Amino acid sequence: MSADRYYNQEIETMERGDLDALIDERVRYTVHYAAEHSPFYRNWFRDNNINPEEIREHEDLLSLPIISGKTIREHQPPVSPEFEFLSTDWSNVFSIQETSGTSGTPKGFFLTWDDWKRYAEKYARSFVSQGFSNRDRIIICASYGMNVGANTMTIAAQRIGMGIIPIGKCTFESRLLKSYKPTAIVGSIFKLLRLARRLSAEGIKTSDTSIDKLVAGGEAFAAESRAYLAEMWGVPVYNTYGSTEGTMCGECTHLTGLHVPEDLVHLDVYDPLQHSFVKDGECGRGILTTLLPVGGKCGMLLINYDTEDTTVVFTRERCGCGRTHMRIINPQREAETIWLFGNPFNRSDIEAAVFQHQSMTYITGEYEAFVYDGDIPGETMLRVNLECFDQEHCDRHLVEDQFVSRFLKYKPLISEHYHDQSFHIELNFTGPRGLDFYTMKGRPKRLVDRREH
Ligand SMILES: [Zn+2]
Repeated sequence: MSADRYYNQEIETMERGDLDALIDERVRYTVHYAAEHSPFYRNWFRDNNINPEEIREHEDLLSLPIISGKTIREHQPPVSPEFEFLSTDWSNVFSIQETSGTSGTPKGFFLTWDDWKRYAEKYARSFVSQGFSNRDRIIICASYGMNVGANTMTIAAQRIGMGIIPIGKCTFESRLLKSYKPTAIVGSIFKLLRLARRLSAEGIKTSDTSIDKLVAGGEAFAAESRAYLAEMWGVPVYNTYGSTEGTMCGECTHLTGLHVPEDLVHLDVYDPLQHSFVKDGECGRGILTTLLPVGGKCGMLLINYDTEDTTVVFTRERCGCGRTHMRIINPQREAETIWLFGNPFNRSDIEAAVFQHQSMTYITGEYEAFVYDGDIPGETMLRVNLECFDQEHCDRHLVEDQFVSRFLKYKPLISEHYHDQSFHIELNFTGPRGLDFYTMKGRPKRLVDRREH
């Protein structure tokens, strides 16, 4: 293998002891920087009786409160007169970004050019770990908007000399594939599935295109849907997890968890009550802290920020790729998790049950699911609408059997209630474009809790 296996070999392969020392040094500097430059954190340290000088290492972050998206909204216009998280002079702000905002006013984010370089480095490392180089030409389907994703990938591409095709959506004409011979596409699982289906309808085989890898991101997905996408395209599909707040993690070619760029973002995993860290291997809430290199400056930073995603630290051991940075399991949106009879289930669990191999002969993989109260008190109903290629020739029994057995597999309590008939699963089959969400604007909401609480 050549030296271009890594983007930043020294950092990416640093021994654990040295890496932890670097993290602690950056925790100290970042906390110090926050106390000096961020009006929010200056007040936060004072109001919580915290002496920033006493935060010496990453474990000390446990003694600090956790903030959330709500905290940011409460310390920016229109609630407060100023953006209290802004931690530099306006003249240093290169760009103003916003999160896509699922609730309330979008959160304002301020990036200096140095911030962009650090953001881009995270994606550049991820791309290189997925085998990208200056021989690649990549179509970016992620949208170029107020969120940072597509722009960060574009700058990252420049850093590794890769060609970029900044389309910003997956509904591009197939001639682009023929004319420019891109080697990769970045998009969400479902957009890449639809693209493959559209190509097939136009008589184009994915195997005849120049695409040799796909990068999926934007939302959590099940292993099953990724496997199906990889099979459809006949190429590997790499996962990325990124946010405007600064998490940018990516799977390497070994496909064993997403590497966290630990020198640039610190990720702790907390128990549900957010009192302590969970052990590696246990699921918990991802809490992030920006890490600035000593002497670095930034437009906005976050300490102990609740990502509202759940994840698991899979391992801190050296990966087969040589990287030492810890690997996490695909994070899931806490907002897409529903508790039923004492078992949690996530939208990804529905997706796993939908994307069963034999079922995919009959259904497209598009789905929407609703949880209702049953007719009798204490009963609950899961209704799942599935899109068939051909409603007349769909083996509903097979799809249903596959769905039910996979859905109940790791959920003993839900399973018990299914067998004593206080939990019902109902599948409805529609023809192409028959799902409710096709008639709604915006990103489809695939799991909706309609119970009266
Ligand atoms: Zn690796």
